[in-house]
Amino acid sequence: MTSIQNKLKHSQKRIAQAAKNASREPQEINLLAVSKTKPISDIVEAYQEGQRLFGENYVQEAEIKIRALKETYADIEWHFIGPLQSNKTKTVSQLFHWVHTLDREKIATRLSEQRPDTLPPLNVCIQVNIGKEITKSGVQCNEIITLAKHISTLPNIQLRGLMAIPSANVDEQKARLELAQLHSSFIALKQLYPQIDTLSVGMSQDLELAIEYGSTLVRIGSAIFGARKNKKET
Ligand SMILES: *Cc1c(COP(=O)(O)O)cnc(C)c1O
Repeated sequence: MTSIQNKLKHSQKRIAQAAKNASREPQEINLLAVSKTKPISDIVEAYQEGQRLFGENYVQEAEIKIRALKETYADIEWHFIGPLQSNKTKTVSQLFHWVHTLDREKIATRLSEQRPDTLPPLNVCIQVNIGKEITKSGVQCNEIITLAKHISTLPNIQLRGLMAIPSANVDEQKARLELAQLHSSFIALKQLYPQIDTLSVGMSQDLELAIEYGSTLVRIGSAIFGARKNKKET
């Protein structure tokens, strides 16, 4: 077995164990394989092991991969998880099934307008800035409902839940506080919009803690595909 297949299996085991520890069903938690900066051959390897959800951060890079894999691997579900500028919304709305990083009304409107009529609505998550870091994207907790209301008026995008990237390098107590706050925002939103079913949080380092706080989708990159070289790209 190849190393990607081993690491994918190991990540699945971590998810199952974390679910068990949190008294949750492992099937409630989806694994998104984050393939940014990695070659197409790595995606195919994970696919052959049964992986179907893939996450990409950079529009240009993703476009090449998605077009290359579209025909042969038509059942891959593509998730956009990078920062989204308005000049890239058209490509994203045409190629992806999901966008996790929605944090502005203007971007939401554009995605809905540009989503091709031949495709089902684009699934979106509102990105929440739970660490309240000024440099990071995402809305504050008290702004979620306003953006959700706007999204609910748009025909070609469908609100599915919340996404967050917890603060890096904080102590466990702070990390728990952030995740607890995110989870209660998720529950509150679900009460208003019953179709909400996705809490996108947890990465290679912190998936166990995220699952403890209700994550339904963990985004795993390096634990499956290995460490990334530093690469800046948009
Ligand atoms: C890169 C990235 C991940 C994956 O991170 P790993 O630490 O490699 O698992 C998850 N979510 C987002 C938004 C990312 O940009």
